[in-house]
Amino acid sequence: MTKYVLVLNSGSSSIKFQVLDLAEDPQEGPFLSGLVEQIGESRGHIKIITENNTIEDRRPILSHSVGLERAFGMMSLLGVGPQDLDICAVGHRVVQGGSLFNEPVLIDDDVKEKIGSLIPLAPLHNPANLDGIENAQSLLPDVPQVAVFDTAFFHSLPEAASRYALDREVADQYHIRRYGAHGTSHKYVSELVPGLIGKDPAEVNQITLHLGNGASASAIQGGKAIDTSMGLTPLAGLVMGTRTGDIDPSVIFHLTREAHMTIDEIDTLFNRRSGLKGLCGVNDFRLLQELINEGEQDAQDAYDIYVHRLRQYVGSYMLELGRLDAITFTAGVGENHVGIRRDSMANLENFGIRIDDALNNNEAGVEGPRIISTDDSAVKVLVVPTNEELAIARFALALSEQD
Ligand code: AMP
Repeated sequence: MTKYVLVLNSGSSSIKFQVLDLAEDPQEGPFLSGLVEQIGESRGHIKIITENNTIEDRRPILSHSVGLERAFGMMSLLGVGPQDLDICAVGHRVVQGGSLFNEPVLIDDDVKEKIGSLIPLAPLHNPANLDGIENAQSLLPDVPQVAVFDTAFFHSLPEAASRYALDREVADQYHIRRYGAHGTSHKYVSELVPGLIGKDPAEVNQITLHLGNGASASAIQGGKAIDTSMGLTPLAGLVMGTRTGDIDPSVIFHLTREAHMTIDEIDTLFNRRSGLKGLCGVNDFRLLQELINEGEQDAQDAYDIYVHRLRQYVGSYMLELGRLDAITFTAGVGENHVGIRRDSMANLENFGIRIDDALNNNEAGVEGPRIISTDDSAVKVLVVPTNEELAIARFALALSEQD
């Protein structure tokens, strides 16, 4: 008996999706994954990958709905179309749930309207997410659809962490607060940690570091998030591939007055031309490492700034939590970059944190979650691969079965 769940991540110019069979062990990987990109450009790209086949299509893609329909058609050609698979639920990643959603929900007209009402808080993402929902509903009208919000895990943030020191009336009128991001990943990873370190989940104080192209840190107490580095939008906090992370807001005034830049230009500068890319020209850590190895000073500076910010957050969350049991690295950089883990955890022996170099280098070739701290390290340091799609699929299946 199979239990196929389709997980959709609809972005502004791309759709990523996976089909997972939750009756099998999906930790091993998805049954099928797909990508629809370059929507609206002169050349499109659709790619479907199954265990035995990869097929691609490079014709132009007029719209998201055309792209998804064509991708479903390509799946059918391989004999694994949505109809062939008898999909039992669709899970949608929704970036912004605002104050309206603190957990995943079955999608109905009211939910869609609320997601639409949050567009001002996520103008690039929520319209694409909503579009994905509409398209999936029209292509699979009889299958329950579930929205899983990136922000939901941070709904529990205490007022001291979620409220900015901004005029209360303005903040409330315009719904300005810290909403967080990558919540599905922080929750998924943090829930695995107690088992890995042999402690009662209710007792575990931990920091999770999601370091991918976007990056965020969270402080979690007994399974509840008490602080996170992302803010109103996913621009705040850590240095990222192309985003500034924390920056003095006066930089905006300064650029407006002195460089005569428009708000849209500054938005693009902060979100797309900053971070590692702005500092040294590349946003991928593998290329950054190559530049460092070649002796490029800008790349070394970018690396140092990244590590400096990361340590600032780890330090502040240690104090907020008071007692710390675990620090976990996840996502593309966190899972793969030995140096970032080594350097961000360096010289912290006095705080009970000590990395084991052989474990950090993964000399034993362990796949999956692993501890990389020494046996005598009071705080356990871990690498736990994230799997947002699996987390979304599980929520979608659970809610569809309650339906
Ligand atoms: P994510 O957003 O989680 O997919 O992470 C993407 C980022 O992870 C890429 O931009 C790279 O910077 C980084 N990354 C992926 N694989 C590696 C690797 N083997 N070594 C270092 N960095 C990596």
